[in-house]
Parts: sequence; C-alpha cells; structure tokens
Amino acid sequence: PCTDYDMAYFRAYSHIGVHEEMLKDHVRTNSYRNAIMNHQDLISGKVVLDVGCGTGVLSVFCAFAGASRVYAVDASDIALQAMEVVRENDLSDKVIVLHGRIEDVDIEEKVDVIISEWMGYMLLHESMLGSVIFARDKWLTPGGLILPSHASLYLAPITNSQRYQDSIYFWRDVYGIKMSSMMPLAKQCAFMEPSVETISGENVLTWPTVVAQVDCYTVQASDLEIITAAYKFTSMLQAPLHGFAFWFDVEFNGPVRQKTKKQASQPSDGNMQNASPSSKKKKPDVSIVLSTAPEDAPTHWQQTLLYLFEPIGLKKDQIIEGSVTISQSQQHSRFLNISLKYFTGDQWYVKESVMR
Ligand code: SAH
Repeated sequence: PCTDYDMAYFRAYSHIGVHEEMLKDHVRTNSYRNAIMNHQDLISGKVVLDVGCGTGVLSVFCAFAGASRVYAVDASDIALQAMEVVRENDLSDKVIVLHGRIEDVDIEEKVDVIISEWMGYMLLHESMLGSVIFARDKWLTPGGLILPSHASLYLAPITNSQRYQDSIYFWRDVYGIKMSSMMPLAKQCAFMEPSVETISGENVLTWPTVVAQVDCYTVQASDLEIITAAYKFTSMLQAPLHGFAFWFDVEFNGPVRQKTKKQASQPSDGNMQNASPSSKKKKPDVSIVLSTAPEDAPTHWQQTLLYLFEPIGLKKDQIIEGSVTISQSQQHSRFLNISLKYFTGDQWYVKESVMR
C-alpha cells in the first residue's frame, strides 16, 4: 500500500531541482549512457522497463540504443514531463510512459531488460532497490539484463580536521569572545546524524571494508532489511580519527559477471597512492563502474559521513575494529538505522544514528 511517506517521497521527485541535479551529475548520467551503449546488443530490438524513469532520460537512451519498446514508469508527477520529453523526441511509438508506482502498474508483457537508477545516499537510503526487485520478479524474462547489475557499499575510517575546525573549534573564539560552552551543542547538531559531504582520498585512513555486496540478479528484499558487517582496519597514518565514511559503486554487467579489475581488498603494500589506481576503469574488457569513492570524481551522492563526538588520536598501524549494522527503520522504511561499534584499543564505543 502507498503510505503517506511514499506520497511525500514521490512529491519530492516532482520538483525539477532533484532531476536537474541528477542530470547535471555527468559521472552518473554518462555511466548509464555508456552502460546502455555497451550492452546495445542486448537492448536493440528488445523490450526494456525503466523503473523510476524521472525525466525519461534512461528510457530515451535505451530507445536510441534500438530498444523496440520501453516502459518508463514513475509514480511522481515528473512522469507527466517524461511524456512530453518522449513526444518531443518523436519516440511516442516506442516509449510508453506509465504514471504510477511500479508495484501498481499493469504491463502486459515480459521485458528483456530492466534499467533503474535506484541508488540513494550510502547506497540503500530511500530503499528503492525493493521496487527493482519487485519488477525483476514480476516481469524480467529468465536470462534478462539488469542495469546496474551489482552494487557494493564500503566503509572506511577518516580524518577531517578541517571539519572539526569549522564546526566545533570555531566556538573557542568568536570575535574574541569565548564560546567553548557552545561546543557540546555544536557537536550534537553537527555530528548526531550522518552527514552527506564530499571528502577526498586524503581524508581516508586506510583501505575500505566491504559492508554489502548486492547482485541485482539474485538479491531478495529480505536481504536488505538488516545488513551487518564486522571490520578490522589498520590505520596507514598517524592522525586523529574523526569518523567513518560510507560510499558505494555499481557495476553494469550482464547476467554472468565479468571479471573486473577493481576490488577493495587488502593493499599489496602500505602505499596510500595505491588507493586510486588509474588503471581500474574503462578498459574495453572491464565492466563499467560508477564509483562514488572519495578518490574518484565527485558525484551528487558525495560520501556519507559518521562523525565521532570526540576524535581519537591514532598511531600509524593502529587497529580499529568493530562492526556496523544498517537496518531499515520500522517506522519509516525509507530511513536507515545505522549502528556503528568501534574499538581502538582501550574501550568500545557505539554510535547510533538515523539517516532520514
Ligand atoms: N531515471 C531517472 C530518475 C532517477 S530518480 C534518472 O536517471 O534521471 C528515481 C525515480 O524513481 C524518481 O523519479 C522516483 O519518483 C521514482 N520511483 C521510486 N520508487 C518508485 C516506485 N516504486 N514506482 C515508480 N517510481 C518510483
């Protein structure tokens, strides 16, 4: 059933600004276009379903790639705009825009391809993947193509003195007035909940851990309710630990996974430069990867940061271990509860937060 929360969610997508931001995210939109063109042999002459078509951009790309029919579905009023976009590109005979929830619309045939841009902040915010799973189970022909096909969520410890300076230490001296008494409130306000911001590879203290790996061909909705991962990091630097960052990438593979060069894993040596090997993408034999990592070109997803209320001084090679649990909120299924446990040698800490 469509809840009030869903209504608010779809209303948010009726504003032009959010679509403009997504379309102006060239990393995002070009990755999708490249992926569609890369799989032209599997799209040309085939039936495509675009789950959450927005302005219709991905549906039009698929039509350009030769799809015989594209069902473009969106529950938001932006679907009305998508209809106009389809018309002005003379694709009304090919692209059928359906204004409704994917869970509610009628499509009278099976589809060969599902395309969707479902990823939220830290991958799982918005919980739209469930709608892609629903569409897959209802309409995708066996052996059909899903783009993107795989997704990975990463976590790494970070240092970010600048952020502490700007938001917390700022209060030590304001026009010559001592305002340190404001610092506890500043910490509450700035660091209580996850924050979406851009950091760089230099903020990252070591190689990330993989929190979740999603195979869109096989993932079940129940797999997404609670995700837990244990981690153990070894800091490559002596630096204050200010928090942890989440980011993700998605891959665009066919039903049988191709070999990819990029994998987060243990470093071959302790050199941070290796965190951004420039050789990892866009080789013809390597699948297309849309990455939101700090060392890669920024996207509108940025990174999702969990800051500690008190920084912890780390030595080089110091171990940070613990676990992270991400679960869909009971009250509001599009929110995420994040529970992060960490230990740096003297005591265990737990940070609980909600991504709203
Ligand atoms: N495909 C577009 C828009 C992506 S944003 C692009 O790439 O630019 C995701 C879109 O999915 C939003 O417009 C939202 O309204 C829609 N959406 C999310 N869940 C949906 C559902 N269950 N049914 C239909 N549309 C949905």
